[in-house]
Amino acid sequence: MFEVDLHLHTTYSDGTLDPAELVDLCVSRGLSVIAISDHDSTEGLPEALAAARSHPHLTVIPAIELSTDIPGAEIHILGYYVDYEDQALQKVLREFRQGREERGQRMVEKLNALGLNISWDRVREISDGGAIGRPHIAQALVEAGHVEFPKEAFDRYLGRNGPAYVGRNKLTPLDAINLLIGNGALPVMAHPTYSETKSDRSGVPTLRQTITDLKRGGLVGMEVFYGDYTPDQVSYLHGIATELDLVPCGGSDYHASGNPGEPQPGTVGPPMSTVEQLAKIKRSPAYRSASS
Ligand SMILES: [Zn+2]
Ligand SMILES: [Zn+2]
Repeated sequence: MFEVDLHLHTTYSDGTLDPAELVDLCVSRGLSVIAISDHDSTEGLPEALAAARSHPHLTVIPAIELSTDIPGAEIHILGYYVDYEDQALQKVLREFRQGREERGQRMVEKLNALGLNISWDRVREISDGGAIGRPHIAQALVEAGHVEFPKEAFDRYLGRNGPAYVGRNKLTPLDAINLLIGNGALPVMAHPTYSETKSDRSGVPTLRQTITDLKRGGLVGMEVFYGDYTPDQVSYLHGIATELDLVPCGGSDYHASGNPGEPQPGTVGPPMSTVEQLAKIKRSPAYRSASS
């Protein structure tokens, strides 16, 4: 078990535990530093921070996970120590949520056209007011008996190459990094191997090139200890992080999804020195002047 888990989701995006339940679970699992990082939403943070007040040995780092696109791949950028009262950030997030609704509706229409009957109203109910995402649609497909568990819905219908997939307008990773730096948050690349592209396609950068470009744009860290990464993946990514002087971050990316074998909070995570490194960058005068 690890003491630090810097990647967790609540009902305010596509997790199934509310912030207080997630905080309680993390405390019971012996964690001492966690980051709550919902997709394109900071709405769960006040509740999470309030719940943490009754647990003096737990530190909650306010965070967010922004979805962005590059040609051929999706990149998620985490922002640590996000200032959720920043109105400029909230305006962008509101636009994001609207885009998510429209996209979700179109995916449900495509599923219906494929003969899979789920309703948009039910998807909205499942999202419970959170930022609507594909996991909510997957859950509706499970409920209706079209698939056995959520991952199957992604594999068969909702994945990037699936018949019900709908893309959406997103930020570029550099837009997201600039948005986070402007907010005072530390940008960190999430699950880098998910963004691996076929490097033999001309004009499509390799993962290493992409990370190098993002570092130049202000990225301060990247996930290395993540979800169900194998030791080989961890050492490959740790090599890139060391080479590019990026803070090695990570966490379980726990959603309480019900998928078999889902990594639980605290089963994977970075060492405490990662938290110290992030806190040090956050305090540094260079970072403060960059974000002011
Ligand atoms: Zn992600
Ligand atoms: Zn995530």
